[in-house]
Amino acid sequence: MSEERKHVIIYTDGGCDPNPGPGGYGIVLCYGKTRKILSGGFRRTTNNRMEMYAAIRALESLKEPCQVTLYSDSSYLVRGMRQGWAKRWQEKKWLRVPDERAANADLWQRLLELCEIHTVTFVWVKGHAGNKENEVCDQLSTAALHRPDLPADEGFENAPELKVKMTQAGQPCRKCGTAVIQKKPRKAPKAGQQYYYEYYLYCPACKTIYLVEAARRECPADLPDLFHL
Ligand SMILES: [Zn+2]
Repeated sequence: MSEERKHVIIYTDGGCDPNPGPGGYGIVLCYGKTRKILSGGFRRTTNNRMEMYAAIRALESLKEPCQVTLYSDSSYLVRGMRQGWAKRWQEKKWLRVPDERAANADLWQRLLELCEIHTVTFVWVKGHAGNKENEVCDQLSTAALHRPDLPADEGFENAPELKVKMTQAGQPCRKCGTAVIQKKPRKAPKAGQQYYYEYYLYCPACKTIYLVEAARRECPADLPDLFHL
């Protein structure tokens, strides 16, 4: 059944100066005797994002499903794909651990989708070690990050905070992963108390309590009238 896919060799590099800062990526695509070059950049991004973005742009430029060998000097990219990190984070809804998001989930998601279309083997190469095509990618990437009027890397500039805040019922408990429930305090705030929590989150399994910033209320001066006790 296996229709013969064209074998494309791709070299990629990406980087920032400083990190984070203006970033660029460079790509060399080789198919038979054809050689194609791509590059681009963003006004503010990170080294890891540019390494990933180089691979994404390269794979996105292929017009049909291909068999790809992709060389990169980014162990973050190569290990993320080869060792299944990205796949595992995706399965856990992009949480690395219950209270922390995986960084660059937007780009990992795109890469995983592209790897469904193409058969990709990621190969790590030592950077700046004389590999001709990798040197070309490095030069392209450096040249790109110095261009004026680079676009915004929206995924970086609008990235969510990595630490997940406990804000609503149904989120996994940080200690045991059980879905937390919302509870109302049984006791009314006492006189003299400055603030109270209208509700809090509670883990029914390990009994951990999470206070929620959005549920915090200032105590009114005339407490007893506000609460029907
Ligand atoms: Zn728990």
